[in-house]
Amino acid sequence: MAVDHAKGRYDVIVVGAGYGGATCAALLAGRGYRVAVIDKNPAPGGKAMTLHRDGNSYEMWPIVGGPATGSRIEELLELIEAPVPEVILTPERAAEFRYIRPDGSMTMTPVGSLPGSVMGLPADPSVGEPELAAAAAMAVAALTMAENDLALLDDVDILTWMSTYDVGDVLRAHQLAILNLLFVAPVDRIPASEALRTLKDFGLKGAGRYHAGGYAVPAELAVEYVTSRGGTYLPRTAVDRIVIENGTAIGVMASGVLVEAPVVVSNAGIQPTVLSLAGPDQFPPAYVDRVMSLEPSWAFVGLRYFLDAPVMEVPMILQFSGQSWWDTDRYVAARAGHWPDHPLLFAATPALYDPTLVADPSRQVVLAGTMASPDPKSPMSAAAIERTDAEMLATWPELEGHVTRRESFTAANTSAASRASVVPGQGGECIGLAQVIGQCGASKPDPVTPVRGLFLTGCDAGGYGCGTHQAVESGFVVADLVAAALG
Ligand SMILES: Cc1cc2nc3c(=O)[nH]c(=O)nc-3n(C[C@H](O)[C@H](O)[C@H](O)COP(=O)(O)OP(=O)(O)OC[C@H]3O[C@@H](n4cnc5c(N)ncnc54)[C@H](O)[C@@H]3O)c2cc1C
Repeated sequence: MAVDHAKGRYDVIVVGAGYGGATCAALLAGRGYRVAVIDKNPAPGGKAMTLHRDGNSYEMWPIVGGPATGSRIEELLELIEAPVPEVILTPERAAEFRYIRPDGSMTMTPVGSLPGSVMGLPADPSVGEPELAAAAAMAVAALTMAENDLALLDDVDILTWMSTYDVGDVLRAHQLAILNLLFVAPVDRIPASEALRTLKDFGLKGAGRYHAGGYAVPAELAVEYVTSRGGTYLPRTAVDRIVIENGTAIGVMASGVLVEAPVVVSNAGIQPTVLSLAGPDQFPPAYVDRVMSLEPSWAFVGLRYFLDAPVMEVPMILQFSGQSWWDTDRYVAARAGHWPDHPLLFAATPALYDPTLVADPSRQVVLAGTMASPDPKSPMSAAAIERTDAEMLATWPELEGHVTRRESFTAANTSAASRASVVPGQGGECIGLAQVIGQCGASKPDPVTPVRGLFLTGCDAGGYGCGTHQAVESGFVVADLVAAALG
């Protein structure tokens, strides 16, 4: 392992170069701290890592961010003086919502990525004036809600909050499918505060954020910035242990070497950090009990299709029926084998919004998936992939003749790219901790742990919002906390 001992001790070691770790490391390096970033993966980005193979670049799985503009990702890029490598999907071509009616026919609604247009509603004939008026009233309530009113909704689930607006079955199915996609969690347990804060951002600042060259580019640039400021980046290096003496973090053990620093920031997930890397004996029993009880988000699993012809025409597709969205009961039923006729399907073709990703424009890589159990050992990943494939081929039969290779991605693959499975059923989560009541807002775990000098960053602590944006938000919050601790 190439630790630069000439530099002496580091001020901060960041375990993990996911969006949370990379952000936190760059901001601290920018403030003059000596930072080492250690990651088990070959490249930065964590769950949002971009793969570069055979002249093509593509995400490991479908990924797109929000808010589109004025985001924390943009702020990070400005602070590290990186060129803003941004391709925000164009309004005409961003996405399509495809609602499957009970009789099997389909309503297709094009959606833009500009502020307001993400709220595009399915233009189904069954949606009349009263439903549209209710949806408009709900959107106004969400977009104008003040922060102190939002904070009162930590313990109210979004399904209950929405039930006061009679939007009808189609718009309800549409809104709940979007919530499932954003949070990958049961709609009857997502706090209204978290959902509305996020939807407000999307409504006011747009969605459909992408970065030219691959979604992971900001994380890659953040890590480059760390090294440009004299810091160290060690890829392909797993941290085996966070070393703690007398209740204080003093460094990490990686590849048999002790790397020392008075602050360790872990992006490896709260459960792996506390229960495995640091060890439960280092924490008060009540803290360990709480950490053990935390619940992961569901997984998102599916397939990468490598095509020898450009079959797909729309960059992003969200396809659903009235049965596709999941609350707790529907998830439990699907886990037991009772799947809806049409699984919620999200498909993305990155080259349609960033042509630089493919060496040969006559080819495409299509990423498609659906929700499943986060348990890396669960058979639900295989069942979900089978259903995703069937739904894709039923919708685009012409795909089959052009597929040169299929690669599946499972909860186990997600765990390998991000966090270890240290609690039964956890590891392959799509987001991080589930954004459910009791784990968000005031109840979200504190990034400051009971061990002096040990902090958490990423989707488990310190942020809010959708996936990568939540991780970056956490990176900002934690960089401030660390700077305050170091002085
Ligand atoms: C299929 C799928 C689709 C998604 N789609 C979207 C989307 O469209 N939009 C969106 O915003 N988000 C999406 N997400 C979620 C988003 O990718 C994550 O929420 C976010 O990237 C998590 O960032 P993080 O910083 O919390 O940690 P992670 O990305 O989990 O990074 C953790 C890092 O820590 C490293 N690490 C862990 N343990 C160790 C160790 N012991 N030693 C060294 N390194 C270690 C890992 O290698 C990894 O690099 C998706 C995720 C998946 C899986």
